[in-house]
Amino acid sequence: MKVTDYFEAAQDKTLISFEVLPPVKGGSMQSIFNTLDPLMEFKPPFIDVTYHREEFIYRKRPSGYYEKTAIRKRPGTVGICAAIMHRYGVDAVPHLICGGFSKEETENALIDLNFLDINNVLALRGDAAKFEAHFAPHPDGHPYAIDLVKQIGDMNEGKYLDPNISNGAKTNFCIGIAGYPEKHFESPNLETDLLFTKQKVDAGANYIVTQMFFDNKKYFDYVKACREVGINVPIVPGLKPITKKAQLVGIPRVFFLNLPDEFVKEVMKAEDDAAVREIGVEWCIAQSKELKAAGVPCLHYYTMGDVKTIKRIVEAVY
Ligand code: FAD
Repeated sequence: MKVTDYFEAAQDKTLISFEVLPPVKGGSMQSIFNTLDPLMEFKPPFIDVTYHREEFIYRKRPSGYYEKTAIRKRPGTVGICAAIMHRYGVDAVPHLICGGFSKEETENALIDLNFLDINNVLALRGDAAKFEAHFAPHPDGHPYAIDLVKQIGDMNEGKYLDPNISNGAKTNFCIGIAGYPEKHFESPNLETDLLFTKQKVDAGANYIVTQMFFDNKKYFDYVKACREVGINVPIVPGLKPITKKAQLVGIPRVFFLNLPDEFVKEVMKAEDDAAVREIGVEWCIAQSKELKAAGVPCLHYYTMGDVKTIKRIVEAVY
């Protein structure tokens, strides 16, 4: 079933969903099940699985010279999605990224997904590779997420890259995209960011999942601003609890967002990370309750492997 069909069927009820990361190469599928097993009692209709682009490492050769090699540290998104659907009977939403992929590779991945009856994808550009100052698309790939949205939309109409394919099988993907209540870090301002988000929706995106935020006003203002520019698709808030003092610096640095003053002051006063976790959990519960009361379509939790904390939050909210 499509993610947007779940929203429609739920009407005013707020759904719940989780996002998991593939294990680092060498890890097992069991680690994903260990994260999800305790969360399935909350009946998430869908689970997102992130995608990770290649990283470059330097390997020493016998000659003493170093060789630059591309490795993918967290492969397996498509397989994990299929395994989740098989084990739990819920839908899985693989993330697809432009970075590091040619259009042909993307097309082949979409064909795999279609054959596996995976009909939801979150279409993203991805970030610059480590050591790159700016995002550089694959020479035969897409520079922006909107181009990926268009490619998926084409396949939904039976149009493949090879112009010789006529009457191609039509896929049936529901397309999610990313949204940024505090704007994407490369955008000059929120208005410009919204313009490009609207273009993605006009190109066929069916719903938006937001970057995490810690001040609900940012989300509510964002939704209002989206509606004002004619973005009318469901906007799902993404949530993550802070559990360590170091995240006061790490989260803004990685995700380009602000933390509310009141929250920062509380965390600064905490004596250790156990106390920080309590503050972070309570904050996330309060955020979740307010969003639920406001009738958001779904609360989407970034689990990042911390199942115990996420479970505590969801238990308090549902
Ligand atoms: P885009 O929509 O392409 O936007 C990128 C930037 O370009 C923005 O500043 C935008 O305003 C601007 N822009 C857009 N279109 C144009 C245009 N036509 N001309 C000029 N400028 C334009 N990353 C991963 O690697 N794997 C994941 O699994 C993953 N999951 C994510 C899930 C969520 C919910 C979110 C919010 C982010 C996720 N990311 C993931 C991170 C994401 O890939 C990065 O934030 C990336 O920098 C931007 O992706 P995007 O799809 O928003 O890009």
